[in-house]
Amino acid sequence: ANLGMAESDNTSVQVALRIRPLIHNEISKGFQNILEVFPELNQVKIKSSDKAFTYNFVFDTNIEQEEFYKKSVQDVIQNLFKGYNVTILAYGQTGSGKTHSMGTAYSGQESKGVIPRAVTDIFNFIKDNFTYDFTVTVSFMELYQEVLYDLLAMKPRDQCAVEIREDAKSIIIPGLTEQPVSSASQALEYLIKGSQGRATSSTNMNAQSSRSHAIFTINISMQKKDNSATNRTAKFHLVDLAGSERSKKTGATGQTFKEGVNINKGLLALGNVISALGDEKTQNGYISYRDSNLTRLLKDSLGGNSITLMIACVSPADYNLEETLSTLRYADRAR
Ligand code: ADP
Ligand code: MG
Repeated sequence: ANLGMAESDNTSVQVALRIRPLIHNEISKGFQNILEVFPELNQVKIKSSDKAFTYNFVFDTNIEQEEFYKKSVQDVIQNLFKGYNVTILAYGQTGSGKTHSMGTAYSGQESKGVIPRAVTDIFNFIKDNFTYDFTVTVSFMELYQEVLYDLLAMKPRDQCAVEIREDAKSIIIPGLTEQPVSSASQALEYLIKGSQGRATSSTNMNAQSSRSHAIFTINISMQKKDNSATNRTAKFHLVDLAGSERSKKTGATGQTFKEGVNINKGLLALGNVISALGDEKTQNGYISYRDSNLTRLLKDSLGGNSITLMIACVSPADYNLEETLSTLRYADRAR
C-alpha cells in the first residue's frame, strides 16, 4: 500500500485523505466534527448517514506532518530516481489544509509540510549515490484565470506570463526560470521567494482565499558517471490547487466571480482526466488534457509512465458538510 513500486502498481492515481482539526474558533462556536474514521479500513464515514468512502490512505485530525509525509509521500521519492515523473496535488476547499499539508508557504518556522521534506529527501538520496551525476533545477509557477505566471522571474507581474508548449515527448514552457540548485536549503529559498508573489483576493468566505493553482516543480536529471549513455530525467510537480468551493457559495461577484468560473474549469478538467485515467474502459481511449491549462501543463506527468498522488483535504466541521462531501466525491472519482 505505498507508491514505492510503480512498475507493479496499476492504479495511476492514489488518494490520501487528510482531515484537518477543528480550529479553536470553530470549537468555541460549538461546531461539531461530522466525520468518523476507520483507520484499519482507510475509510471515512459521515456520522449520522451511511455515506462512506475508502481511499489509499485516510488520516484523521490528529496526524502530525511527519507521519503524514512518511506514510503517504516518502516512498514516492525513489521513483523519481528511476526516471518516473511524479505529481502530488492538494485538493480541497479554501481553509481545508492544502497549503499546510503541501508546505507551499514554507517560511522556515512552521512544522514542515510535504515540499520541504521531499526536497530534503531528494538531496539526501543524491548525497548517498555515487553512480550518477545529478543536475537539479526548480521552478515555481502560478496559474491564475488560465494565465500561467513564472513566480521566479523577478520581474513585474505583467511580464511574467509564460506559455505552455508541447513537443513529441514532453511539455515545455519556453522562457520559464529554472534555477539550478545544489542543496535543499537553496531549493527552499526559491520556494520562499516565489510564494511571496502569489495572487490572493478576498471573498466573503476567506480573506486570504487562494484562487490560483501554485505549482512548484523539481527537475532531476541523472548522468551515469561511467559515461555510458544512461541518462534519465524526472519531473516532480507539487501542486497546491485553488480552492474547490463553488463561486455561488462565496457570494462573489464581478472580477472575483470570473476567477471562480475559471478555477472550476481547471479543477473540472483535472477531475475528468484523473477519472479517465483510473477507468479501465478508457485506457485506450481519448483523455482530454486540452480542456484547461492545468491539465495541459501536467499532461506528461499525469497517467502514462508517471505517478500521481492526490492529497484530498477536508474540514470536519458540520457547517462545511456540503463542501466536504463534494471533495470526498471528487477524490472518489480518482480511485
Ligand atoms: P488551504 O490552503 O486549503 O486554504 P490552509 O492550509 O491555509 O488551507 O489551512 C487553513 C488553516 O488551518 C491554517 O491556519 C492552517 O494552519 C490550519 N490547518 C490546516 N490543516 C491543519 C492541520 N492538519 N493541523 C493544524 N492546523 C491546520
Ligand atoms: Mg492555501
